[in-house]
Amino acid sequence: MLLRALLSSLPLVPLALAALYVTALWRPPPAWDPLAPLDFRDTPTLVTHWKLSRMAWQPETCLAAFAASGLKVTPLPDRPSEAGCPLENTVRLAGEGASLAPAGPVATCPLAAAWEMFERYALQPAAERHFGSRVARVQHLGTFACRNVYGRTEGRRSEHATANAIDVAGFTLANGRELRLPRDWGEGEAGAFLREVRDGACRFFRAVLGPDHNAAHRDHFHLDRGPWPRCS
Ligand SMILES: [Zn+2]
Repeated sequence: MLLRALLSSLPLVPLALAALYVTALWRPPPAWDPLAPLDFRDTPTLVTHWKLSRMAWQPETCLAAFAASGLKVTPLPDRPSEAGCPLENTVRLAGEGASLAPAGPVATCPLAAAWEMFERYALQPAAERHFGSRVARVQHLGTFACRNVYGRTEGRRSEHATANAIDVAGFTLANGRELRLPRDWGEGEAGAFLREVRDGACRFFRAVLGPDHNAAHRDHFHLDRGPWPRCS
C-alpha cells in the first residue's frame, strides 16, 4: 500500500523540484542548473547545450564561464563594420591542451567556449582512444572572413563574417603523428578518428560541416556557433 502510494506520487517529484527552483529554495548541482555559468571542468550534461546557447544572447555568461572554470581569456575590443561583418563579444581563441596554428585567432566568446568543451570532451578523448596520444596542435584555416555563405554572392553572411566559425584542417599528436584532411578521410584508424572528431564536434558546435557535406569542405571541418544546426 505504502509502495503504491510512493509510486503514484513519483510523477509529482519534478513538479515539486520545479516549484522549489522557481522559489529559489533549491538549486540542482551547477552542471545541471540552467542559471549557473558553464564550468568547463564539469562533464557535459543535458543542460550544457543550453548554457552554450545562452551565451549568444547573454554575452556576459560567456566570460563568466571562463572565470568559473579558472581559465584566462583575452577579450578583444568590439569593432563595428559597415560591410556587415562586425566583431562583437570576441576573444583570442587559445586551445587548452592543444595549441592553435596559426595562434590566437579572433573568435566570438561562444565559439571559444564551445572549443573548450570540444577539446576536452571530444577531441582529446578521441586521440587517446585511437592513438594513445593527445593532440598537441590544431591546424586551422582561419576564423574571420568578411564574406557570404560559401558559393553565394547574395544573401546571408557566413558565420565567418563575425568570427563565429573556425575551419580545422588537421591535427598533430604529441607523438608526432599528423592527421590531415582530406588525406586521412578514409578507411583505417585515421579515418575513424577524424569521423569521431566530427561527430564529437556536433555535441558542442551548432553547425559542423566536413568532407561528407560537400566538395567545398573536403579539406576541412567547418565548426560554428551560428543559428543553423547541421552535422554532416
Ligand atoms: Zn568555415
